[in-house]
Amino acid sequence: MTQHTAKTALVTGASRGIGKAIALRLAADGYAIVVNYAGNHELAQETVADITRNGGNAVAIQGDVTEPTAVTTLFDGAYDAFGSLDVVVHSAGIMALVPIKEDSLDAFDRTIATNLRGAFLILSQAAARLQEGGRIIALSSSVIGKSFPNYGPYIASKAGVEGLVRVLANELRGRSITVNAVAPGPTETELFMQGKSDEMVAQLAQAAPLERIGQPDEIASAVAFLAGPDGAWVNGQVLRVNGGMV
Ligand code: NDP
Repeated sequence: MTQHTAKTALVTGASRGIGKAIALRLAADGYAIVVNYAGNHELAQETVADITRNGGNAVAIQGDVTEPTAVTTLFDGAYDAFGSLDVVVHSAGIMALVPIKEDSLDAFDRTIATNLRGAFLILSQAAARLQEGGRIIALSSSVIGKSFPNYGPYIASKAGVEGLVRVLANELRGRSITVNAVAPGPTETELFMQGKSDEMVAQLAQAAPLERIGQPDEIASAVAFLAGPDGAWVNGQVLRVNGGMV
């Protein structure tokens, strides 16, 4: 039920995981998609191929979200490809699990650079370039509400993202652009599964009353709601999508 419109969406971190699911869902909803990625060229091309195979329209554009010039080039590329931009979804992110100790500083810096500095750069370009009626959606995390040990840098970065989203919603007053965050709970992707034993995954699955891990397309559904007509009155909010974990 692909319905083609002239609308376009840029999704960062769309070579895999949640970003890929968002790209596929928004493509099915009729958006032309810019598939951003950091280094996985082949996987990004697979996302594009999946979209075009289903009758959609997409291009892949490499760009490290921590680098201002790369982010500018990414948005330039989006406009070159499709001539307009209606939706920006910032899904690119990393998760390093380390305790709050001095020798974790490298992991802290990397996490803040990708998750928070990256969000600042993507949100600032989106704010500068989106037309009236645009939608900006950033990925936070429900783990903020749990404060598990070893999540310090990650939670700090995502708390920062939620702060940026609320402030930007106010800064864009008068332009009919909404800015929101989606905060998933544990979701079956490489980021979540990496380094976890089956036992740890099973334990985390029990954190939600629905007693399972979420799937990327369940997060994409929430993003599609915020991006689409039904989400028009939601602004400056964090939508937790986690099976009831917090
Ligand atoms: P994945 O590890 O599956 O995918 C990460 C994506 O981000 C990849 O496309 C990767 O590109 C891209 N990326 C990483 N660093 C950069 C960078 N510097 N510049 C551009 N792109 C980059 O992660 P998920 O899909 O699981 O996570 C997506 C978002 O959802 C993240 O923000 C994460 O924090 C959040 N989230 C995830 C949860 C989960 O349980 N999975 C729970 C809560 C929140 P490449 O393939 O080229 O490396």
